Amino acid sequence: MTDDGERLCHVAKMPSRDPFFALAPELRLHLSEDDGALVVSSREVARVFFHRKHRRVLRKIMRDIWDMPMQPNYEDEYRLRDDGTVDITSTGLTSVLNHWGFHNKNKRLREFRDRYVKLIVGATKEIEAETGKSPIRNGVSLFFPDLHWRYFTEDGLMCCEECRMPPRVWGPMVRDELWTAIAHKDAFLCLDWIEHRLGRALTQADLKFPQPLLW
Ligand SMILES: [Zn+2]
Repeated sequence: MTDDGERLCHVAKMPSRDPFFALAPELRLHLSEDDGALVVSSREVARVFFHRKHRRVLRKIMRDIWDMPMQPNYEDEYRLRDDGTVDITSTGLTSVLNHWGFHNKNKRLREFRDRYVKLIVGATKEIEAETGKSPIRNGVSLFFPDLHWRYFTEDGLMCCEECRMPPRVWGPMVRDELWTAIAHKDAFLCLDWIEHRLGRALTQADLKFPQPLLW
């Protein structure tokens, strides 16, 4: 077999990049000698993201491991090598590169984070379209069970929580006891859905402040 053929065989055996590694296609990956996982060397991360400053990458990894000694074990993320480098899995890569307040001026890093956020948000939307449930919302609800969700358009207009559209007509403020009977106190509904939940048309007597009903 020719050299090229052997090299091709070797390449063909590499598992395909997972979506996180795919965010940084210029990283050269290899298989971990410990367990065969697809990993990137900390030196390679330093080359691509930190002008070859390897210690910077190691410092971040050590902080990850030492900051939370009782918490996750980092088997999923890091494999320490005898030569002082660290083999990093794709999950580990997102830990190394995503950290609040960490190297905000590094343009290449910001690019990676932007792609990462888009990837997560995109995947969330797909899951929500399929199952009707957003994994991000489920996750946040675990931390803040009382949180009431509001919906906004991408340019920031508040949306009705039933039809998920910015209201054509803003409904008037209705009396508190009426509102709490049909909606969460922090809910936002278009006029159509206020009346729909109420099961009838609004009247003057329903309003918190008298005003002409213009619709
Ligand atoms: Zn609506």
